[in-house]
Amino acid sequence: MTARLTIMSDTPFGTFFVPGPTEIRPEILEQLTRPVMVHRNKAFEAMFARIEAGLRDVFLTARPVYVGATSATGFMEMAVRNAPHGKILCLVNGGFSERFALVAESCNRSVERIVVPWGETFDLNVVDDKLSSRQFAAVAVAHSETSTGVLTDVRAIAEIAHRYGTIALVDSVSGAGGAEITVDGWSLDFVFTGSQKAFALPAGLSFAVASAEFVERAKKVADRGFYFDVVQYDKFAEKNQTPSTPATSLMYALEAQMGDIGREGIERRWERHLAMRDATIDWVQSVAKRRGIDIDVVATEGSRSPTVTVISLPNGMAPRELLDAVLARGYTLGSGYGQLRETTVRIGHMGDHTVDGLRRCLHACETAIAELAERRRLTRV
Ligand SMILES: *Cc1c(COP(=O)(O)O)cnc(C)c1O
Repeated sequence: MTARLTIMSDTPFGTFFVPGPTEIRPEILEQLTRPVMVHRNKAFEAMFARIEAGLRDVFLTARPVYVGATSATGFMEMAVRNAPHGKILCLVNGGFSERFALVAESCNRSVERIVVPWGETFDLNVVDDKLSSRQFAAVAVAHSETSTGVLTDVRAIAEIAHRYGTIALVDSVSGAGGAEITVDGWSLDFVFTGSQKAFALPAGLSFAVASAEFVERAKKVADRGFYFDVVQYDKFAEKNQTPSTPATSLMYALEAQMGDIGREGIERRWERHLAMRDATIDWVQSVAKRRGIDIDVVATEGSRSPTVTVISLPNGMAPRELLDAVLARGYTLGSGYGQLRETTVRIGHMGDHTVDGLRRCLHACETAIAELAERRRLTRV
Protein backbone atom coordinates (compact mmCIF):
# COMPACT_ATOMS: atom_id res chain seq x y z
CA MET A 1 0.00 0.00 0.00
CA THR A 2 1.35 3.42 -0.82
CA ALA A 3 1.29 5.95 1.94
CA ARG A 4 -1.06 8.81 1.37
CA LEU A 5 -1.25 12.04 3.18
CA THR A 6 -3.68 14.85 2.97
CA ILE A 7 -1.91 18.08 3.68
CA MET A 8 -4.09 19.73 6.28
CA SER A 9 -4.26 23.39 5.60
CA ASP A 10 -7.07 25.79 6.32
CA THR A 11 -5.30 28.67 4.60
CA PRO A 12 -4.42 28.90 0.90
CA PHE A 13 -0.81 29.41 -0.18
CA GLY A 14 0.29 33.02 0.11
CA THR A 15 -0.21 33.90 3.76
CA PHE A 16 3.23 33.43 5.33
CA PHE A 17 5.67 36.26 4.56
CA VAL A 18 8.48 35.59 7.02
CA PRO A 19 12.05 36.03 5.68
CA GLY A 20 12.93 32.48 6.60
CA PRO A 21 11.53 29.99 7.06
CA THR A 22 9.40 30.74 4.01
CA GLU A 23 6.08 29.29 2.90
CA ILE A 24 6.21 25.86 1.26
CA ARG A 25 3.73 24.76 -1.40
CA PRO A 26 1.72 21.65 -0.37
CA GLU A 27 2.91 19.63 -3.37
CA ILE A 28 6.50 20.18 -2.22
CA LEU A 29 5.70 19.26 1.40
CA GLU A 30 3.98 16.10 0.22
CA GLN A 31 7.32 14.82 -1.07
CA LEU A 32 8.42 14.36 2.54
CA THR A 33 6.00 11.45 2.95
CA ARG A 34 7.54 9.29 0.23
CA PRO A 35 9.07 6.00 1.42
CA VAL A 36 12.60 6.19 2.84
CA MET A 37 15.44 5.22 0.50
CA VAL A 38 18.90 3.71 0.93
CA HIS A 39 21.56 6.17 -0.21
CA ARG A 40 24.63 4.12 -1.09
CA ASN A 41 23.18 2.94 -4.37
CA LYS A 42 22.46 3.88 -7.98
CA ALA A 43 18.94 5.16 -7.34
CA PHE A 44 20.21 7.76 -4.88
CA GLU A 45 23.09 8.70 -7.17
CA ALA A 46 20.70 9.21 -10.07
CA MET A 47 18.52 11.46 -7.90
CA PHE A 48 21.61 13.36 -6.70
CA ALA A 49 22.71 13.89 -10.31
CA ARG A 50 19.30 15.31 -11.27
CA ILE A 51 19.38 17.62 -8.24
CA GLU A 52 22.92 18.73 -9.14
CA ALA A 53 21.85 19.73 -12.64
CA GLY A 54 19.09 21.90 -11.17
CA LEU A 55 21.34 23.46 -8.51
CA ARG A 56 24.04 24.32 -11.05
CA ASP A 57 21.43 26.24 -13.02
CA VAL A 58 20.45 28.18 -9.90
CA PHE A 59 24.03 29.08 -8.91
CA LEU A 60 25.16 29.38 -12.55
CA THR A 61 28.21 27.27 -12.00
CA ALA A 62 29.90 24.30 -13.62
CA ARG A 63 31.24 23.27 -10.20
CA PRO A 64 29.50 20.67 -8.03
CA VAL A 65 26.95 22.12 -5.58
CA TYR A 66 27.36 20.55 -2.15
CA VAL A 67 24.21 19.44 -0.34
CA GLY A 68 24.54 19.26 3.43
CA ALA A 69 22.20 18.15 6.18
CA THR A 70 22.62 21.30 8.24
CA SER A 71 21.13 24.72 8.64
CA ALA A 72 23.02 27.44 6.78
CA THR A 73 25.13 28.39 9.79
CA GLY A 74 26.85 25.01 9.37
CA PHE A 75 28.02 25.99 5.91
CA MET A 76 29.04 29.40 7.25
CA GLU A 77 31.36 27.46 9.53
CA MET A 78 32.45 25.39 6.50
CA ALA A 79 33.47 28.61 4.72
CA VAL A 80 35.62 29.67 7.66
CA ARG A 81 37.15 26.32 8.56
CA ASN A 82 38.30 25.56 5.01
CA ALA A 83 39.54 29.06 4.17
CA PRO A 84 43.29 29.49 3.78
CA HIS A 85 45.08 30.41 7.01
CA GLY A 86 45.39 34.10 7.71
CA LYS A 87 43.29 37.05 8.79
CA ILE A 88 39.65 37.35 7.73
CA LEU A 89 38.12 40.72 6.94
CA CYS A 90 34.44 40.62 7.92
CA LEU A 91 32.10 43.16 6.34
CA VAL A 92 29.45 43.72 9.00
CA ASN A 93 26.18 45.53 8.25
CA GLY A 94 23.66 43.53 10.25
CA GLY A 95 22.96 40.53 12.43
CA PHE A 96 23.95 37.79 10.01
CA SER A 97 27.18 39.36 8.78
CA GLU A 98 28.08 39.85 12.46
CA ARG A 99 27.36 36.15 12.98
CA PHE A 100 29.86 35.38 10.19
CA ALA A 101 32.51 37.31 12.16
CA LEU A 102 31.56 35.49 15.39
CA VAL A 103 31.81 32.11 13.68
CA ALA A 104 35.28 33.04 12.39
CA GLU A 105 36.38 34.15 15.87
CA SER A 106 34.98 30.99 17.45
CA CYS A 107 37.08 28.98 14.98
CA ASN A 108 40.14 30.83 16.31
CA ARG A 109 40.52 32.98 13.22
CA SER A 110 41.96 36.40 13.56
CA VAL A 111 39.20 38.75 12.46
CA GLU A 112 39.01 42.40 11.54
CA ARG A 113 35.67 44.07 10.87
CA ILE A 114 34.49 46.90 8.70
CA VAL A 115 31.26 47.90 10.43
CA VAL A 116 28.65 50.18 8.86
CA PRO A 117 25.27 51.21 10.32
CA TRP A 118 22.43 48.71 9.91
CA GLY A 119 20.57 49.62 6.73
CA GLU A 120 23.68 50.49 4.74
CA THR A 121 26.10 48.66 2.50
CA PHE A 122 29.85 49.23 2.10
CA ASP A 123 31.84 51.98 0.47
CA LEU A 124 33.94 50.05 -2.05
CA ASN A 125 36.81 52.51 -1.63
CA VAL A 126 37.00 51.71 2.07
CA VAL A 127 37.01 47.97 1.31
CA ASP A 128 39.69 48.50 -1.33
CA ASP A 129 41.85 50.54 1.08
CA LYS A 130 41.63 47.85 3.70
CA LEU A 131 42.34 44.91 1.39
CA SER A 132 45.18 46.70 -0.38
CA SER A 133 47.27 46.18 2.77
CA ARG A 134 47.39 42.55 1.58
CA GLN A 135 46.99 41.34 5.18
CA PHE A 136 43.86 39.29 4.56
CA ALA A 137 43.46 35.70 3.43
CA ALA A 138 39.70 36.09 3.02
CA VAL A 139 36.87 38.58 3.08
CA ALA A 140 33.46 37.50 4.44
CA VAL A 141 30.29 39.26 3.29
CA ALA A 142 26.50 38.82 3.38
CA HIS A 143 24.93 39.14 -0.06
CA SER A 144 21.42 39.84 1.26
CA GLU A 145 21.57 40.94 4.93
CA THR A 146 18.28 39.49 6.19
CA SER A 147 18.23 41.63 9.35
CA THR A 148 18.09 44.90 7.37
CA GLY A 149 17.04 44.00 3.82
CA VAL A 150 20.29 45.34 2.36
CA LEU A 151 21.79 43.85 -0.79
CA THR A 152 25.57 44.10 -1.16
CA ASP A 153 27.39 44.02 -4.49
CA VAL A 154 29.34 40.83 -3.83
CA ARG A 155 30.62 40.79 -7.38
CA ALA A 156 32.43 44.09 -6.78
CA ILE A 157 33.70 42.91 -3.39
CA ALA A 158 35.12 39.72 -4.95
CA GLU A 159 36.77 41.72 -7.74
CA ILE A 160 38.52 43.97 -5.23
CA ALA A 161 39.51 40.99 -3.08
CA HIS A 162 41.08 39.15 -6.00
CA ARG A 163 43.15 42.20 -6.89
CA TYR A 164 44.98 41.69 -3.59
CA GLY A 165 45.15 37.89 -3.49
CA THR A 166 42.21 37.61 -1.04
CA ILE A 167 39.37 35.12 -1.49
CA ALA A 168 35.68 35.99 -1.14
CA LEU A 169 33.38 34.04 1.21
CA VAL A 170 29.76 34.85 0.45
CA ASP A 171 26.71 34.29 2.66
CA SER A 172 23.88 34.22 0.13
CA VAL A 173 21.42 32.57 2.50
CA SER A 174 18.55 34.94 1.67
CA GLY A 175 20.00 35.68 -1.77
CA ALA A 176 20.52 32.57 -3.88
CA GLY A 177 17.35 31.41 -5.59
CA GLY A 178 15.81 34.90 -5.34
CA ALA A 179 18.47 37.56 -5.92
CA GLU A 180 20.78 37.49 -8.91
CA ILE A 181 24.02 35.64 -8.23
CA THR A 182 26.37 34.06 -10.76
CA VAL A 183 29.01 32.04 -8.98
CA ASP A 184 31.35 31.35 -11.91
CA GLY A 185 30.73 34.59 -13.78
CA TRP A 186 31.44 36.66 -10.67
CA SER A 187 34.41 34.44 -9.63
CA LEU A 188 33.07 33.88 -6.11
CA ASP A 189 35.29 31.51 -4.12
CA PHE A 190 32.78 30.09 -1.65
CA VAL A 191 29.03 30.72 -1.64
CA PHE A 192 26.47 29.10 0.63
CA THR A 193 22.74 29.20 1.24
CA GLY A 194 20.02 27.38 3.17
CA SER A 195 16.91 25.57 2.00
CA GLN A 196 14.35 27.55 4.05
CA LYS A 197 14.83 30.96 2.44
CA ALA A 198 14.42 31.75 -1.29
CA PHE A 199 14.40 28.04 -2.21
CA ALA A 200 11.07 27.73 -0.32
CA LEU A 201 11.92 24.31 1.08
CA PRO A 202 11.76 22.85 4.58
CA ALA A 203 14.68 23.87 6.83
CA GLY A 204 17.50 21.37 7.23
CA LEU A 205 19.46 21.45 3.96
CA SER A 206 22.23 23.78 2.91
CA PHE A 207 23.89 24.26 -0.46
CA ALA A 208 27.37 25.54 -1.24
CA VAL A 209 29.71 26.02 -4.17
CA ALA A 210 33.49 26.23 -3.82
CA SER A 211 35.90 27.12 -6.60
CA ALA A 212 38.40 24.41 -7.60
CA GLU A 213 41.14 26.66 -6.22
CA PHE A 214 39.35 26.98 -2.87
CA VAL A 215 39.23 23.18 -2.56
CA GLU A 216 42.91 22.85 -3.55
CA ARG A 217 43.96 25.40 -0.95
CA ALA A 218 41.73 23.77 1.69
CA LYS A 219 43.86 20.61 1.40
CA LYS A 220 46.65 22.56 3.11
CA VAL A 221 44.44 23.64 6.01
CA ALA A 222 45.20 20.82 8.45
CA ASP A 223 42.71 21.77 11.17
CA ARG A 224 39.68 22.15 8.92
CA GLY A 225 37.65 19.65 10.91
CA PHE A 226 35.61 16.67 9.84
CA TYR A 227 31.89 17.30 9.31
CA PHE A 228 32.33 20.37 7.12
CA ASP A 229 35.49 19.28 5.31
CA VAL A 230 35.12 20.76 1.82
CA VAL A 231 37.66 18.30 0.40
CA GLN A 232 35.44 15.39 1.44
CA TYR A 233 32.28 17.11 0.18
CA ASP A 234 34.00 17.68 -3.15
CA LYS A 235 35.24 14.11 -3.44
CA PHE A 236 31.82 12.66 -2.68
CA ALA A 237 29.95 15.09 -4.94
CA GLU A 238 32.08 13.80 -7.83
CA LYS A 239 30.42 10.41 -7.21
CA ASN A 240 26.96 11.95 -6.67
CA GLN A 241 27.25 11.20 -2.99
CA THR A 242 27.53 12.97 0.36
CA PRO A 243 30.26 12.21 2.96
CA SER A 244 27.71 11.21 5.62
CA THR A 245 24.02 10.26 5.58
CA PRO A 246 22.08 12.65 3.36
CA ALA A 247 18.66 13.94 4.44
CA THR A 248 16.96 11.97 1.67
CA SER A 249 13.40 12.93 2.57
CA LEU A 250 14.33 16.59 2.30
CA MET A 251 16.06 15.82 -0.98
CA TYR A 252 12.82 14.46 -2.45
CA ALA A 253 11.35 17.91 -1.83
CA LEU A 254 14.51 19.50 -3.22
CA GLU A 255 14.29 17.50 -6.42
CA ALA A 256 10.66 18.49 -6.96
CA GLN A 257 11.46 22.14 -6.28
CA MET A 258 14.46 22.06 -8.65
CA GLY A 259 12.10 20.89 -11.37
CA ASP A 260 9.73 23.79 -10.72
CA ILE A 261 12.55 26.36 -10.49
CA GLY A 262 13.97 25.01 -13.75
CA ARG A 263 10.60 25.41 -15.44
CA GLU A 264 10.28 28.97 -14.18
CA GLY A 265 13.87 29.76 -15.20
CA ILE A 266 16.33 31.41 -12.81
CA GLU A 267 16.31 34.78 -14.61
CA ARG A 268 12.51 34.90 -14.47
CA ARG A 269 12.70 33.96 -10.80
CA TRP A 270 15.06 36.89 -10.14
CA GLU A 271 12.70 39.21 -12.02
CA ARG A 272 9.70 38.03 -9.98
CA HIS A 273 11.64 38.79 -6.80
CA LEU A 274 12.59 42.26 -8.04
CA ALA A 275 8.95 42.92 -8.87
CA MET A 276 7.93 41.84 -5.34
CA ARG A 277 10.57 44.12 -3.83
CA ASP A 278 9.42 47.08 -5.92
CA ALA A 279 5.77 46.45 -5.06
CA THR A 280 6.67 46.42 -1.34
CA ILE A 281 8.74 49.60 -1.50
CA ASP A 282 6.08 51.43 -3.52
CA TRP A 283 3.50 50.34 -0.99
CA VAL A 284 5.54 51.60 2.00
CA GLN A 285 6.07 54.98 0.35
CA SER A 286 2.45 55.24 -0.69
CA VAL A 287 1.11 54.39 2.79
CA ALA A 288 3.43 56.97 4.32
CA LYS A 289 2.20 59.60 1.91
CA ARG A 290 -1.50 58.79 1.60
CA ARG A 291 -2.11 58.14 5.28
CA GLY A 292 0.55 60.36 6.81
CA ILE A 293 1.94 57.43 8.79
CA ASP A 294 5.65 57.48 9.46
CA ILE A 295 6.77 54.11 8.07
CA ASP A 296 9.92 53.72 5.98
CA VAL A 297 12.21 51.20 4.32
CA VAL A 298 15.33 50.62 6.45
CA ALA A 299 17.68 49.74 3.57
CA THR A 300 19.15 52.72 1.74
CA GLU A 301 17.97 53.33 -1.81
CA GLY A 302 20.04 51.54 -4.42
CA SER A 303 20.93 48.63 -2.15
CA ARG A 304 17.59 47.00 -1.40
CA SER A 305 17.32 43.23 -1.41
CA PRO A 306 14.85 41.56 -3.79
CA THR A 307 13.92 39.02 -1.11
CA VAL A 308 13.26 40.90 2.13
CA THR A 309 12.11 44.39 3.11
CA VAL A 310 12.59 45.69 6.63
CA ILE A 311 10.13 48.43 7.57
CA SER A 312 10.59 50.92 10.40
CA LEU A 313 7.44 51.80 12.34
CA PRO A 314 6.33 55.15 13.78
CA ASN A 315 7.41 55.98 17.34
CA GLY A 316 5.17 54.19 19.76
CA MET A 317 3.82 51.59 17.33
CA ALA A 318 4.97 48.28 18.75
CA PRO A 319 6.03 45.68 16.17
CA ARG A 320 4.36 42.96 18.21
CA GLU A 321 1.01 44.75 18.04
CA LEU A 322 1.29 45.14 14.29
CA LEU A 323 2.29 41.50 13.77
CA ASP A 324 -0.76 40.45 15.82
CA ALA A 325 -3.10 42.77 13.92
CA VAL A 326 -1.79 41.42 10.60
CA LEU A 327 -2.11 37.85 11.85
CA ALA A 328 -5.72 38.53 12.81
CA ARG A 329 -6.23 39.21 9.09
CA GLY A 330 -4.65 35.88 8.14
CA TYR A 331 -1.09 36.89 7.30
CA THR A 332 2.22 36.27 9.05
CA LEU A 333 5.11 38.73 8.85
CA GLY A 334 8.55 38.47 10.43
CA SER A 335 9.56 40.33 13.56
CA GLY A 336 12.54 42.66 13.50
CA TYR A 337 15.96 41.12 14.07
CA GLY A 338 18.69 42.00 16.57
CA GLN A 339 19.04 45.71 17.28
CA LEU A 340 16.01 46.42 15.02
CA ARG A 341 13.71 44.06 16.90
CA GLU A 342 11.77 46.74 18.80
CA THR A 343 11.36 49.19 15.91
CA THR A 344 10.80 47.20 12.70
CA VAL A 345 8.92 44.36 11.05
CA ARG A 346 10.23 42.31 8.14
CA ILE A 347 8.36 41.17 5.04
CA GLY A 348 9.90 38.14 3.39
CA HIS A 349 8.86 38.32 -0.26
CA MET A 350 10.87 35.35 -1.40
CA GLY A 351 10.51 31.81 -2.57
CA ASP A 352 7.32 30.90 -4.37
CA HIS A 353 5.30 34.03 -3.55
CA THR A 354 3.77 36.08 -6.36
CA VAL A 355 3.25 39.82 -6.75
CA ASP A 356 -0.53 39.31 -6.64
CA GLY A 357 -0.36 37.27 -3.44
CA LEU A 358 1.99 39.82 -1.90
CA ARG A 359 -0.40 42.67 -2.76
CA ARG A 360 -3.18 40.90 -0.85
CA CYS A 361 -0.85 40.68 2.15
CA LEU A 362 0.14 44.35 1.85
CA HIS A 363 -3.51 45.32 1.70
CA ALA A 364 -4.10 43.50 5.00
CA CYS A 365 -0.99 45.17 6.45
CA GLU A 366 -2.33 48.56 5.48
CA THR A 367 -5.66 48.17 7.24
CA ALA A 368 -3.80 46.84 10.30
CA ILE A 369 -1.39 49.79 10.33
CA ALA A 370 -4.22 52.28 9.84
CA GLU A 371 -6.15 50.70 12.71
CA LEU A 372 -3.16 50.91 15.06
CA ALA A 373 -2.40 54.48 14.01
CA GLU A 374 -6.02 55.48 14.64
CA ARG A 375 -6.04 53.80 18.03
CA ARG A 376 -2.84 55.63 18.90
CA ARG A 377 -4.36 58.95 17.81
CA LEU A 378 -7.47 58.35 19.93
CA THR A 379 -5.52 57.41 23.06
CA ARG A 380 -3.44 60.56 22.68
CA VAL A 381 -6.41 62.91 22.66
C1 LIG B 1 18.92 32.76 7.82
C2 LIG B 1 20.27 33.31 7.59
C3 LIG B 1 21.42 32.72 8.14
C4 LIG B 1 21.35 31.56 9.11
O1 LIG B 1 20.84 30.44 8.53
P1 LIG B 1 20.37 29.18 9.43
O2 LIG B 1 19.79 28.30 8.38
O3 LIG B 1 19.38 29.71 10.42
O4 LIG B 1 21.56 28.62 10.08
C5 LIG B 1 22.65 33.24 7.82
N1 LIG B 1 22.76 34.32 7.03
C6 LIG B 1 21.68 34.92 6.48
C7 LIG B 1 21.89 36.10 5.60
C8 LIG B 1 20.41 34.43 6.75
O5 LIG B 1 19.34 35.03 6.21
